[in-house]
Amino acid sequence: MTDPRRAVPRTDTVLADPRLVAAQRRLGRAEVKAAVTAALADVRSGELAPDAAADDAVRRLPSPTRRVINATGVALHTNLGRASLSRAAVDAVIDAAGYTDVEFDLATGRRATRGRGALAALRAAVPDAGAALVVNNGAAALALAATVLGSGREIVVSRGEMVEIGDGFRLPDLIESTGTRLREVGTTNRTTAADYARAIGDATGAVLKVHPSNFRVEGFTSSVPVRDLARLGLPVIADVGSGLLAPHPLLPDEPDVTSALRAGAALVTCSGDKLLGGPQAGLLFGDADLVERVRRHPLYRAFRVDKLTLAALEATVRAGDTPTWRALTADPDELRRRCQSVAAAVGCEVVTSDGAVGGGSAPGLALPGWALALDPACAAGLRTGEPSLVGRVTDGRLLLDLRCVDPADDATIATLVTAALRACT
Ligand SMILES: *Cc1c(COP(=O)(O)O)cnc(C)c1O
Repeated sequence: MTDPRRAVPRTDTVLADPRLVAAQRRLGRAEVKAAVTAALADVRSGELAPDAAADDAVRRLPSPTRRVINATGVALHTNLGRASLSRAAVDAVIDAAGYTDVEFDLATGRRATRGRGALAALRAAVPDAGAALVVNNGAAALALAATVLGSGREIVVSRGEMVEIGDGFRLPDLIESTGTRLREVGTTNRTTAADYARAIGDATGAVLKVHPSNFRVEGFTSSVPVRDLARLGLPVIADVGSGLLAPHPLLPDEPDVTSALRAGAALVTCSGDKLLGGPQAGLLFGDADLVERVRRHPLYRAFRVDKLTLAALEATVRAGDTPTWRALTADPDELRRRCQSVAAAVGCEVVTSDGAVGGGSAPGLALPGWALALDPACAAGLRTGEPSLVGRVTDGRLLLDLRCVDPADDATIATLVTAALRACT
């Protein structure tokens, strides 16, 4: 009677576990059934208790990309996918998921400009731009600008702006990969207009201004603003990086697209999933003829974005109200109140916590706020839970900063933390 093989559950019974039913919708029946079959083999051989078969099958399934609650306090966390999309953008993605009029005019029944809704939204948001274009990411936007203006020629850039953007990718290497020679001028900390002027010659195709977005040089420094570079008589490419479309008082040191255009930049490039708070994308704004040259270049096709990106971008630009900006402008008193309310439910401490913009934007800026403080031993369990909850460990404590958390998730956090505290302390 104690032989475990007698109690081997039926495959269909295990497959009816709600988690495995949900997994069948995601992975198909064959994959889930194979996991159940493997688990039942272990039950038969006595290695697994019969009532653990469903748990074991769940563990055997490939895990999908998971939803994460970002309690790091970092609004644009590159490892967590940078910007979280707004409700409007998510709705737009769902609408565009099937067939859509991305490249079709419903009124005339003819082919239309691809992504014209997103382009119109960008033009309306940046009236100073003669034209706009959307590509796969900021790096692609810069590579295309360099290709069109610098391929087979030279682009002049300050040594203080030879930036590595992360994961070993360096903008100088990216630009040179387009067949452009980079002519470096000035020094790490100081570059003057005369340095650029001396370097410009017949082979120069453009002057490049890169926003050194992820670090700060302090002390004896000088760099040349776009306005003065534009006076050199060559097209200026300005890579403003973060995708701020117009100046914002919260981020006074962050360059923006409108100001760069007004200062005389011929092409301005930036990302869509940093301060704009939209999907991964690269944006180009500027002189209509130059933008058209980029659009006509064969490489443009290789960097083209899909209908989901265009839909999300259009909705982000038109509706605003992004989770990114809600996080950046969160009221510290309100964050404290939310932390205290969760802390009262779970029994933990509330401490001050500085949030950050992240994503290589505004590196020096601390955003004062509040966090729940837990034993760091709880971090792994919370990270691997469902949904995953990721905080940050500082000074021997796990901080759960609510700045980037949707208030609708506070109750979920209370539930996850209560369970974690039981398991880890
Ligand atoms: C982030 C950044 C890039 C790269 O943009 P991606 O969208 O990540 O490709 C390029 N230049 C600057 C200045 C940046 O800040």
